[in-house]
Amino acid sequence: MPNSAYIHIPFCKSKCKYCSFVSFVRQDETYFDYLLQDIESNYQGEWLKTLYFGGGTPSLMDLNTVKKIVSKFNLANECEVTFEMNPDDAELNYLKGLKSLGVNRISMGSQTFNDDILKLIGRGHNSFDTISAVKTAKQAGFENISLDLIYGLPEVNIKNDLEIITNLDIQHISTYGLKIEEGSHFYIYPPENLPDEDMQADMYLEINEYLETNGYYRYEVSNFSRKGYESRHNLNYWNNEEYYGFGAAAHGYVNGVRYSNFETLADYSRNPAGFNIEHKVTWQENLEEEIFLGFRKEEGINVDKINEKFSIDFEGKYKSVLEKFTPGYIKKTPCCYKLTLEGVLLSNNILSEFI
Ligand code: SF4
Repeated sequence: MPNSAYIHIPFCKSKCKYCSFVSFVRQDETYFDYLLQDIESNYQGEWLKTLYFGGGTPSLMDLNTVKKIVSKFNLANECEVTFEMNPDDAELNYLKGLKSLGVNRISMGSQTFNDDILKLIGRGHNSFDTISAVKTAKQAGFENISLDLIYGLPEVNIKNDLEIITNLDIQHISTYGLKIEEGSHFYIYPPENLPDEDMQADMYLEINEYLETNGYYRYEVSNFSRKGYESRHNLNYWNNEEYYGFGAAAHGYVNGVRYSNFETLADYSRNPAGFNIEHKVTWQENLEEEIFLGFRKEEGINVDKINEKFSIDFEGKYKSVLEKFTPGYIKKTPCCYKLTLEGVLLSNNILSEFI
């Protein structure tokens, strides 16, 4: 049974130009009634080790709504409760209120510290907002703060972003290579001077080197933290464990079934407790997901654990693939097989050979 839950808050003040997520610009307060019905119908009362408010923009919710949602769950001792926030919403009393409701991790969408590019991509904040938001979050007592950084934006000096972000002395950094996806403004009107794939790969290597020499370690392909501040919620995904997904367009994995909720507010409001898509994961799919997700982690795939979970001989079953890519792209450690940095850059090709 799941010990993690994700709550989707699909509202934003405006739409960022690179964004293809399900989010709506006008907040509809009735949504929260349906969300509460969804939780009441599907949550089985497990003690949660992680609870994650994502979006959209959770920081558009008032504290009373956050309180109503949090009160629906049994939170285990030291449950990690993450709240995604835009830097321009980081007001001291609001942050203190979140803290008093049990939120103990803040994740902010800073994206870059180049103000011209923030404007170009349609963000509502500037670099000063992010810097003061981090200070305010610390003042409110948060000791676990994560910032998002997008690389591959036009004209961004990634070294400059990295210097500013590390000077903020936060615990966690998530990096994303810009991808122009269908459904985003940039898909129709792409910006000029976008770095190509090779340049993005070089930036990824630069980020790795910079962060690893400045006190962070890469515990997952795109995520860096100080030791002990890994996102436990996201590790739950990468460990191929189950989780609830509540809210429009949220995904969940419960009792061996992966599901996704209705995406539009109209469809979700008609059936908040139901699912749009449900799929019983087969043994083979589960094994492949375990491998794909496991290789995302710096630790890699633990041979004893995968053998026990699936009653297989991992090294025997995948002997030819492992031999083909080890040691250049896959590295064997005392417990595990993991991708090298070169392997990460070619991960799609490598992982396809495990199917
Ligand atoms: S990127 Fe985040 S803040 Fe921007 S529109 Fe998408 S969900 Fe909203």
